[in-house]
Amino acid sequence: MTLASVPAPALAEGRQGGEGLLEASSQPEAAARDFPVACEGGQRQAFCGLAGIVWLHRKLQDVFFLVVGSRTCAHMLQSAAGVMIFAAPRFATAILEERDLAGLADANAELDRVVTRLLERRPDIATLFLVGTCPSEVIKLDLHKAAERLNQAFQTQAVANRPGSPNQPSQPIQSQGLSATAATHPTGRPRVLAYSGSGLETTFTQGEDTCLEALVPDLPALPAGESSLLVVGTLADVVEDQFCRLFAELGIGPVHFFPPRSARALPPVGPGTRLLLAQPFLGRTARSLEGRGARPLAAPFPIGIEGTRGWFDAAARAWNLPEERTAAVLAKPMERARGALARYQEQLRGKRVAYLPDSQLEAPIARFLQQECGMEILVAGVPYFDRRLMAGEIDLLSRPQAGNADGSFAVVEGGDVDRQLDAVRTARPDLTVCGLGLANPLEAEGLTTKWSIELVFSPIQGFEQAADLAELFARPLTRRARLRF
Ligand code: SF4
Repeated sequence: MTLASVPAPALAEGRQGGEGLLEASSQPEAAARDFPVACEGGQRQAFCGLAGIVWLHRKLQDVFFLVVGSRTCAHMLQSAAGVMIFAAPRFATAILEERDLAGLADANAELDRVVTRLLERRPDIATLFLVGTCPSEVIKLDLHKAAERLNQAFQTQAVANRPGSPNQPSQPIQSQGLSATAATHPTGRPRVLAYSGSGLETTFTQGEDTCLEALVPDLPALPAGESSLLVVGTLADVVEDQFCRLFAELGIGPVHFFPPRSARALPPVGPGTRLLLAQPFLGRTARSLEGRGARPLAAPFPIGIEGTRGWFDAAARAWNLPEERTAAVLAKPMERARGALARYQEQLRGKRVAYLPDSQLEAPIARFLQQECGMEILVAGVPYFDRRLMAGEIDLLSRPQAGNADGSFAVVEGGDVDRQLDAVRTARPDLTVCGLGLANPLEAEGLTTKWSIELVFSPIQGFEQAADLAELFARPLTRRARLRF
């Protein structure tokens, strides 16, 4: 096993890239059950869950992701993360070599050696994620057990490092680097967790779901009798700050965000916690948090002006705020957002969009494009449709609007990529939103495309970002118009 792409700190820069609180109401859940979603089988084309590392490492600023996988995984990660050239790298790939594949090396011992070497070079790592991938050798390795073993070894080392302790750790992992790490770490030892980013188990954004799910057992308990709001899903810091200000103005709190900016400041969770999802792909995380007693709020996702208003309204109802007060607090940012959005509406109105499945953000974004920008949605494909998670969103999706003739658009789950491409070629929409691998061939055929990955990396949630989101769709149309002259 070799360790790829782990620069020493000096090289890091510039190298690489009760009654008072409401439950989810049964009304939206009933609507969610009846919402029509077509299911298609066939070949799909989407990133695996490793892609989530690209945005998770920016948010969780003191964690390190060690992908245990093949050269393909390393290449995929390096290409997907090419955008982070000025960031201090906080991920790497432990690549399985021929000796590992041939069974000539003890994979667990190799992994211990790689982790020890990594920690020698990066003693600042507080939390280390072992990220599982597709190769059968990795599946056989059982990274969850490996994480347990490493944690036990670190615990023993940390005890041995305490002043007055006989320095005789009995675990097999012993190195100067590990001792140094245990000595310098605030809690006396790094924490090792494991999750799967394998393409066999996860699609594009599900890597965030499995990562956050792995963190849930480590969240501290919310003291009995206390209540709090937990916003779940990675948000850009600028969006998080805006949301904090609005929650404070509304008098809703305390509010915590998961993931937080530091893995050393994990939010508390317990029966007094109400969950507000900021991303539509966190079903496993939500269920794990519910297992800790938290209760979800039915809300749309904070995409566009209406989605963001519905999202804040759900929290305000849970805190028993009078509707007038909520409306008064939200009026100004909504007005600002409408003003900013107006300049794109003219350009986007009436344009036909085909949205192919990729990130799980398709349905709320298509809803925004149709209802707030006046675009016509030919199809909104989603990799999978979690009706429970989408309960609050469906309330908005079902609203009759002027965009399409019947005020709705088709939501298709799964999908056959060849059939989808044929449909796009026949319909020739003004804009096709799709993954990177499909965009270039379609552009070559004269179709205008938008990379769906950009919508995951960009801050698009909230009132202030509604116009920015519209601009992301206006840009390719402008580019195409310019190319025609
Ligand atoms: Fe690695 Fe599997 Fe993702 Fe390919 S699909 S990059 S093998 S985890």
